[in-house]
Amino acid sequence: MHGTKKIVTALALIVLLPALFYSVYEISALDETEEMVSEMYRRQLDAVLFSVNQHALDVASGWATQLENDPRGGAARLRSSNPSVIGVLTDDSSWNRGTPLLRDRAETFDRLARYQAAAYRKLEPSPAGDSAFLILFVPASDPARRVGILVNSERFIDGVVGQKLRDIAQNDFIIAVRRRSTGAPLYSTSPGTAMEGAQTRQLWIFPDHDVAIRLRGVTIQEAARERFSRNLALIGIMDAVLLAAAWFVYRTIRREMELVALRADFVSNVSHELRTPLSLIRMFAETLQMKRVTSDAKRQEYYTIILHETERLTRLINNILNFSRMESDSRKYQLQPTRLDELVEGVLTVYAYKLESLSFTVVKEVEPSLPAVMADGEALAEALHNLIDNAVKYGGEGRFLRIAVRRSSDGVAIAVEDRGIGIPAEHQGKVFDKFYRVSHGLVHTAKGSGLGLAIVRHIVQAHGGHIAVESAPGRGSTFTIHLPLRAA
Ligand code: ADP
Repeated sequence: MHGTKKIVTALALIVLLPALFYSVYEISALDETEEMVSEMYRRQLDAVLFSVNQHALDVASGWATQLENDPRGGAARLRSSNPSVIGVLTDDSSWNRGTPLLRDRAETFDRLARYQAAAYRKLEPSPAGDSAFLILFVPASDPARRVGILVNSERFIDGVVGQKLRDIAQNDFIIAVRRRSTGAPLYSTSPGTAMEGAQTRQLWIFPDHDVAIRLRGVTIQEAARERFSRNLALIGIMDAVLLAAAWFVYRTIRREMELVALRADFVSNVSHELRTPLSLIRMFAETLQMKRVTSDAKRQEYYTIILHETERLTRLINNILNFSRMESDSRKYQLQPTRLDELVEGVLTVYAYKLESLSFTVVKEVEPSLPAVMADGEALAEALHNLIDNAVKYGGEGRFLRIAVRRSSDGVAIAVEDRGIGIPAEHQGKVFDKFYRVSHGLVHTAKGSGLGLAIVRHIVQAHGGHIAVESAPGRGSTFTIHLPLRAA
């Protein structure tokens, strides 16, 4: 349908394209956001590591100052108050003992002396074996001296660095110190916890060692990945909702358009339905007026035709009026205890002549002693009229009508059965829609407005009941009205 294409294009432009662009944008932005988050974490961790290194430097700096201030007794005091200090080495025999460990580092000391000449006492860490390191410096008080504080690395990490690490880690991070070469852990604020995905930096004071840090619970990557998949899921849900909304709008508009098309058919159908009986009435009335009909029997027949065509017109106009009242919700029903056997009998009497003249076989099966139901007798009769009308109209060659009234599990069931053309399964759900007519096969030749079954359903639902159809093409149809039994 041309119009449908337009709707699809409009929806695609208004809803789906922006949604698509937004999703693509969000997904590409997600990556950037995750990178930003990782970067933020990285900087935070760098800050943490910086403070650890700074702390170690401060401690070492304090030791150096202590030695400068007290060249004689400082070394002994340092050792006694700091378990990680193994000894103080100096090239001056008056400071403990001179040592090859210092001579090996002559170049470093030359550099440190140059710093000292510029009034800056720089400390330089230097590994000394597997479990010790030296902190080298040139004292300001005596720039000719070379001093090295020999430190036990495990004790230093445990006592000095570890304390600081625990303060920083609290409950948020896990921080560990590992040997750079082997990755073997020396210290951890949470011993035994794996450190995959941890950020690492070299430990300044002990250069062949790393400090590794990660978030407690999840690693940054895990956290970023979790956020990413959560956002992705949200975008997915949002897209699904948008798609569903677009689908809903599309379906509603398509339905409305179908309805517009059906309504147009309705106008031409009804015009046709009005014109046929009118021209028949006019034709037979003119013939009678001209007194061309000589036999009494023929005259009688023409009168009967005129009468029936008038009834047909009345029913059609009633249907249209009732339908319009139904549409504006102004149709009211007066429910009263109603005897169904009488009601069915009355309706069949109206049809007796027509059914007989069309040589229909009529079967009426009304269960004896049925209770009265609460119903609007006139409306219910109208519903039956419409069902019988259809059974005749679409009755085909079967020419059979059965009306059965019986008690059912939830009330009373009134079935109207024919052996006519039947309704294909795919149309069965729609025949109760207003204006809907099955548009193929024999039906085309039968006249109708497409309102009958819509009116029937409205009446039945107003009684708190429901209507069902069973039908097979070529075999016939059974429409069953189910009415609840209410206390009268
Ligand atoms: P109308 O008969 O005026 O077209 P209805 O609402 O009464 O409108 O019926 C809707 C459509 O359902 C009909 O056009 C017809 O195609 C189909 N239909 C209704 N009753 C029968 C029946 N007894 N047998 C076959 N088709 C039927």
